[in-house]
Amino acid sequence: MADIIQLLPDHVANQIAAGEVVQRPASVVKELIENAVDAGATEIKLIVKDAGKTLIQVVDNGSGMSATDARLSFERHATSKIRSAEDLFQLGTKGFRGEALASIAAIAHVEMHTKLHHEEVGARIRIEGGKITEQEVAVTADGTSIAVKNLFFNIPARRNFLKSNQVELRHVIDEFQRVALAHPDIHFDMYHNGNDLFSLPASNYRQRVVNIFGNKTNEKLVPVGETTGVVKLSGFVYKPENARKSRGEQFFFVNNRFIKSPYLHHAVVSAFEGLIREQAHPGYFLYLEVNPATVDINIHPTKTEIKFDDEHTLYAILRSAIKHSLGQFNIAPVLDFDKDGGLDTPYDYKNKPVHVPTIEVDSDFNPFREEESQGNTFSSGHSQTGSGSGSGGGRPSWQQNARQGRPADWESLYVGLGDRDKSDTDHFSSVEIESGEVMGSEVRQSGMLFEESSGSEPSVTTYQLHKKYIVTTIKSGMVIIDQYRAHQRVLYEQFLRQMTVKEGISQQLLFPIVLYCSSSDVALLHELKDTLQFIGFAIDKLEGDEITITGIPASVSESEVSIILEQLIADFKDEIPDRSFSQTDRLAKSLSKTLAVRSGEILNEASQEALVNDLFACKEPNVSPFNRPTYITITVEDLDKKFL
Ligand code: ADP
Ligand code: MG
Repeated sequence: MADIIQLLPDHVANQIAAGEVVQRPASVVKELIENAVDAGATEIKLIVKDAGKTLIQVVDNGSGMSATDARLSFERHATSKIRSAEDLFQLGTKGFRGEALASIAAIAHVEMHTKLHHEEVGARIRIEGGKITEQEVAVTADGTSIAVKNLFFNIPARRNFLKSNQVELRHVIDEFQRVALAHPDIHFDMYHNGNDLFSLPASNYRQRVVNIFGNKTNEKLVPVGETTGVVKLSGFVYKPENARKSRGEQFFFVNNRFIKSPYLHHAVVSAFEGLIREQAHPGYFLYLEVNPATVDINIHPTKTEIKFDDEHTLYAILRSAIKHSLGQFNIAPVLDFDKDGGLDTPYDYKNKPVHVPTIEVDSDFNPFREEESQGNTFSSGHSQTGSGSGSGGGRPSWQQNARQGRPADWESLYVGLGDRDKSDTDHFSSVEIESGEVMGSEVRQSGMLFEESSGSEPSVTTYQLHKKYIVTTIKSGMVIIDQYRAHQRVLYEQFLRQMTVKEGISQQLLFPIVLYCSSSDVALLHELKDTLQFIGFAIDKLEGDEITITGIPASVSESEVSIILEQLIADFKDEIPDRSFSQTDRLAKSLSKTLAVRSGEILNEASQEALVNDLFACKEPNVSPFNRPTYITITVEDLDKKFL
């Protein structure tokens, strides 16, 4: 048989290798900025167009290159940073594999200008798809400027794989921030589509954090510091009260390189134990300096994981240093994100704005007419006064809540029973439920799944288990509902609906709420502004690091606003949920996640019932917006089997 093995042509090999180094515009940004840092620049400018899909340019005033080096720099394994394998153990630079420029040049149009400081003139090189198309002597500034255009122009599949500009820009900003935080002594600027996103003069660590994340950050920072034989630790943590519901600013740097380390992260979290709620995330900017020989940096260039020789010691040092700082600065636990379930059950609470006029007056009420039985309508709708309730018997569940909530205690004993009995028969008289598994859609089609009351004895229709599940009976057995997921589903459909029909009701605020966040977060909110308006947010001003809100959805309270927006920003940054869904969908998911009643919250009976009814009035009651089951059923047969 003939020989069949061939060496891949260089440009093919380069393209394949490029796939590893360059996954998205942000990877190019990282490599180019790191090269500029390695070149000793004191000023670095990043210019991006269309989130880097059209242009990424990095201009530095670093060492520059000779014409020969400029040409060589695009060759694979061309690096000035190591000469032998031993050098790997004493690395002080970011790059060392000599792969980045070759990879970038293989999949984009690249133009480089570069000049050594003592030279009169420099060089200009153009490379397209890995081939040098032009090279000439050029008049240019000291240092290097590299422009990368039309990323993935020759690999359409990868280009198509890129996410929205919003998401890609977020990644670019992340990379930019990571390098900028690691090098406060370097002046950084970033422009996107001609707008000045960041302007960071050379300063110190604290000032750099503040310049990136906004002036309000300053008062949140608690300094951390410790020097031992193993590590020199410095940086800041956020005060416990500034812990966030979503992962916000969490940065580790080892020898001025951003890294991720779940293990060290755990050390930080454990230092905050008892000071913040379990679901809250502490913010931190922590810089570790260790002997380069004690870390394994010989890892993939795009990965941020790192291997330490002595992780356990680092863990202990980190934990105790942070604890010490928190103690020293006398930080008391003052965090309460969650609402008090007893006083303020989300259902009643959210419905508050619509309680007033609609509940007591039922102009259609006719004591001699039998209430028609009804399908449940879309009803947790706090702000949807009367929507779907029609004029007849269709009574949204919040109105039921209100009714049951009103009468004096002794009265309610009767009223409650009466109501429930009546509604049981009203609602369920026509129900025929098959035994066996009951799926959401079937449930709806068949009308209702709840057990018909015998009429003779008052049956408890719902029961809250461990502040987490709502249990209720159905003909074939029982259904167990996850309260958090179920409420997410209800809110999700409600928000989606409001966004599509643009019917969200806004409550005007007497005093506008002013929030501060980083300018990149403000940029992100710009993109979401219109959709937010559909659900009732009135955003007046989005400038610099300031957001002014003059109206909020009727179903939301003022104190929730910052948490909602914070979560929203975090979700859009993290691309959760993923890009295959529309902006409206993502917004609705994020809001439902934030506003849904958590497990751990006590729901009164009325709220439990409302939740059950609202859930099964949904289009897709059986899964949460995140595709997790909202309820399970256990049939009597299942139970019987258990007793065998
Ligand atoms: P690495 O950074 O791993 O060495 P790169 O492909 O990123 O590999 O760069 C190749 C070489 O090109 C570097 O080692 C450096 O000598 C040179 N180089 C790249 N960018 C710059 C720059 N902005 N200024 C000066 N030299 C640079
Ligand atoms: Mg490099």
